[in-house]
Amino acid sequence: MKGIYRYHYNGKWMVTFKVFTSLTKVLQTKLIKQWVMPLSGIVLLAVSSSVNAETVKIGLRAHHGIEKSMSQWKPTADFLSKQIPEHKFVMIPFIGINELMQEAAKNKFDFILTNPSSYVELEFSLGASAILTLRNKRQGRPYTKFGSVIFTRKDNKNINEINDLRGKTIVAVSKPAFGGWRVAKRELIKAGFTAKELENQVRFSGGIQQDVVSIIALGNTDVGIVRTDMLERMAASGLIKLEDFKIINKKSTKDFPFARSTQLYPEWPFAKTNKTSSALSKKVALALLTMPAEEPAAIAGKYVGWTVPEDYQPVHNLMKDLKIGSYKHYHENEVEHFFEKYLVHFIFSMIVAFIFISITLYVLTTNRKLIAAKKQQNKLMDELEMRVAERAKDYLVAKEVAEKANKAKTEFLSSMSHELRTPMNAVLGFAQLIEYDADEKQLTEIKENANEILHAGRHLLGLINDVLDLSKIEEGKLQLDIKPVSVNGLISDVVRLLEAQAKEKLVTITYESSPDELEVLVDQRSLKQIMINLITNAIKYNSENGSVDISVSKEKNASCRITVADSGDGIAEDELSIIFEPFKRVTYRTSTEGSGVGLAITKNLVEIMKGEIKVESKLGEGSTFSVLFKLAE
Ligand code: ADP
Repeated sequence: MKGIYRYHYNGKWMVTFKVFTSLTKVLQTKLIKQWVMPLSGIVLLAVSSSVNAETVKIGLRAHHGIEKSMSQWKPTADFLSKQIPEHKFVMIPFIGINELMQEAAKNKFDFILTNPSSYVELEFSLGASAILTLRNKRQGRPYTKFGSVIFTRKDNKNINEINDLRGKTIVAVSKPAFGGWRVAKRELIKAGFTAKELENQVRFSGGIQQDVVSIIALGNTDVGIVRTDMLERMAASGLIKLEDFKIINKKSTKDFPFARSTQLYPEWPFAKTNKTSSALSKKVALALLTMPAEEPAAIAGKYVGWTVPEDYQPVHNLMKDLKIGSYKHYHENEVEHFFEKYLVHFIFSMIVAFIFISITLYVLTTNRKLIAAKKQQNKLMDELEMRVAERAKDYLVAKEVAEKANKAKTEFLSSMSHELRTPMNAVLGFAQLIEYDADEKQLTEIKENANEILHAGRHLLGLINDVLDLSKIEEGKLQLDIKPVSVNGLISDVVRLLEAQAKEKLVTITYESSPDELEVLVDQRSLKQIMINLITNAIKYNSENGSVDISVSKEKNASCRITVADSGDGIAEDELSIIFEPFKRVTYRTSTEGSGVGLAITKNLVEIMKGEIKVESKLGEGSTFSVLFKLAE
């Protein structure tokens, strides 16, 4: 018969070719294959369910097409119905494995006759279990094993071995077909092909084994894959000639005479589903096991009989390798898979963990260092506190001792000064009398001696008075009457008082009274004594024709500064610090009469009136003493 077959391949190209020969018998339109045929199973199911309650449904994978498969397997169902009369056995055929699986999932079948890989899937999903394995009859002999054959047209010079398949077009039966694809796929993957690569290369005939052979025979696809014995069967039917084809990756063993390219797997199982009673399963198994080879059902089914279930572990292994069905997420090496899948995440996590650990370690180390430093600091602080406490104690003791000594000294001086002043006044009184007498009687020598006594006596009395004053101030016994005192008035008085003394030393005192009538808050008597002491020293430690300049100025913070500057010899820098201490005199000037108490009294008086005293001096150029007091408001 002559026909035109439109084969849509890869979505990219469309080939129109003519088919002559009986191949057209096996080629059916896509429409029929994809819609009508699968539906036929469902229709049969519906019909069968209305037969009666005793109906036993056998889901069948019709890999030769509905018509052919039914003619092959219906007699087996009838055989069972005959052997087990209380039941009516019905074959429900599906070209598409997926459709068969879907119906099986709905618990529509009692038994299933399908290829090994879909059976293994049903083991997982439905708890199906093989009760028998088919003993297929090929060339008059029984076979319980089968595999895939990879083949090309004999005249295809480009393909001779498995590696030549790379980049070539492949046609297989269907994605879930066992011998018609999965077995060969495992072999190709073992040979180094990737699943992705194969996915791009392969197209499927739509579920019918013979279609694959026909497509290759037509020559528009390079390589075909079908279950073993398919070529031989078609050749026996006169559909093809075996010598027109070339087997790729050919394997051969004595006990398996058919062309094959892969290892062998157990034949189709006859499986019961989980809803099937074991009594029924037992009856079915027994009936099929004892079926004679000459039985019409066996002849129609092209099998010799049935045997106890084969080991389907190789099928499990295949599914694991191909990661299909329940082994979709199976990974033999979980660790390897983990790294393969989560390498980036793993590296990222490791980096984050590393950074985290580093920071933690850094923080811990720093913390430990800080704690150590803190401990050390606390220790030092404790030591320091101890030392300070010790020093403070020493200081307090020393201060107490010094204060006691000072008080003792002041008390002693005070009492002694008082005791000394009385006899001293008597000495001076009598010396004065002697002086008058000597003057009247013109006893010059006696008068001079009396003068000496008077001079020395006065000096001594002055000294005694100074000491008395100092001790009074230090003891805090000095009575102060703080009130506004006119600076101009007070200084003018003192200058007038000391003018004679200055004249005697040929020293000029200049005082330009301040234009402002300034008043300071002081005890008048004490300020007078301060000014007398400073101006007396400025005259005393001056040279002939020297000068003493007194000035008054208003300072910030409502203060008034009184300055006494002289053109005397000045004081060396290293002696400046001692001149305010009692009884301390500048060493190189001890020839000038003095007690070393004047400046000590002065400083004390200034300070008890809350004023300030300071000195600037340069040896050979003169000294400048100044005092600062608060102005009266
Ligand atoms: P005294 O004048 O009685 O020695 P002071 O206490 O008044 O005692 O003075 C202490 C010392 O300071 C003096 O011995 C003197 O050497 C020095 N001194 C004080 N005023 C002046 C000054 N204006 N010029 C130089 N030296 C001075």
